[in-house]
Amino acid sequence: MELDARTWPGLASSMLLSAPWKKEDCDAYRARGGYAHGMARNGERDLLRILRDAGLRGRGGAAFPTATKLEAVVKAASHTRPYVVANGGEGEPFSFKDRYLMRYRPHMVLDGLTACADFLDAERAFVFTCDELAAESMREALREREPRVPVFVHLSEHAYVAGEESAVVDRLSGGLGLPTDKPPRPFEHGVHGRPTAVLNVDTLAQVALLTSASEDSSQQASFLASVASITGRPTLYELPAGLSLQELAEDFGGDRSAFTATVIGGFFGGLVPGTSDFVLDFAPDPRSDTAIGCASFYFVDRDLDCPIGVAADIGLYLSRRNARQCGPCVRGTSSAAKALQSITRGAFTDATLDDLARWSTILPGRGACGVPDGLARLLRCLLADFTAELHEHARRPCPRCEDLRTSGRREARFHIPV
Ligand code: SF4
Repeated sequence: MELDARTWPGLASSMLLSAPWKKEDCDAYRARGGYAHGMARNGERDLLRILRDAGLRGRGGAAFPTATKLEAVVKAASHTRPYVVANGGEGEPFSFKDRYLMRYRPHMVLDGLTACADFLDAERAFVFTCDELAAESMREALREREPRVPVFVHLSEHAYVAGEESAVVDRLSGGLGLPTDKPPRPFEHGVHGRPTAVLNVDTLAQVALLTSASEDSSQQASFLASVASITGRPTLYELPAGLSLQELAEDFGGDRSAFTATVIGGFFGGLVPGTSDFVLDFAPDPRSDTAIGCASFYFVDRDLDCPIGVAADIGLYLSRRNARQCGPCVRGTSSAAKALQSITRGAFTDATLDDLARWSTILPGRGACGVPDGLARLLRCLLADFTAELHEHARRPCPRCEDLRTSGRREARFHIPV
């Protein structure tokens, strides 16, 4: 990976190894306390209690409580044996933490996967990824240590929505890998119709940590975050829960005021101003319209980048990469992308503002996946916190947007070399 890796100062690292880009083999993982099935001391049924006590929420984007998801599968699987999926689809362009785990710490992912499979008495388990190196690493790990439950590694084509859980279920069931309408949700009708627990690979790594023999309950909870900007070297961080976005900005950019905005949680979590007091926590904040999602952070450089330009390019990306199967999403993302692009060229009227406001209210819930909701949230953020910048674009063409257009760096923002 052409990335930096950094553990937050003073934090005892549990996810990032001291040589982060060297693959951990089975012996090394065992030596760190892995595969010890610490929870077996109290019986595997205690897994739910362990996960609940830790407050573990999904790390793929939705932040759904992991114990609740497993419990739902148990209830739905009263007459059949369920399946469990390690979801490493990771379609968000700003996120690279899942690929790190699968490529370099595959046994940690498998440990969490088999702990959940044992708990559910799953008949099969799957590893789903769109990354060739990750698939090979996971297969090699399975050759090193074959778990009790049969595990199948599925390598799929990369697509923005490929990692959405119903799309994963669709692909593993032999479909095209497109999001499907809910209900039913995978926990009740998943792969080949079986109740299926679809869990992000980072979530499973957390399960492995929480159930390992070396887990020290006094140890500070941490999480992986993917951090990037137009100039800074993309960095995989291990961070303590509860850190502020301002502290992260200062560490990454050397100066809190270096950035005018941050795109949070992939393209779904929202856009916040540089002065935001956002706290990095997976528990949703009911007072906030932004969410940590997959814990990716794209900082918008004050001198070289533009929050309106970034939002416009996210709109364009979503309009081009949506799965083209839900009318409101296809039409809404296309119209919003055109309006946002025109703003970056200085074409902006009050009617444009009205259109953005209208799309921000009518798009949520209008698709089989969260793409329309993500775009609506982005528009709400623009209208709430960036109206001055929007009007500034109407007064005179934005030099940063213009420079990005002509320099070719604009596309590079969404292509992080991993
Ligand atoms: S909402 Fe959009 S991206 Fe999601 S499935 Fe429908 S068309 Fe595809």
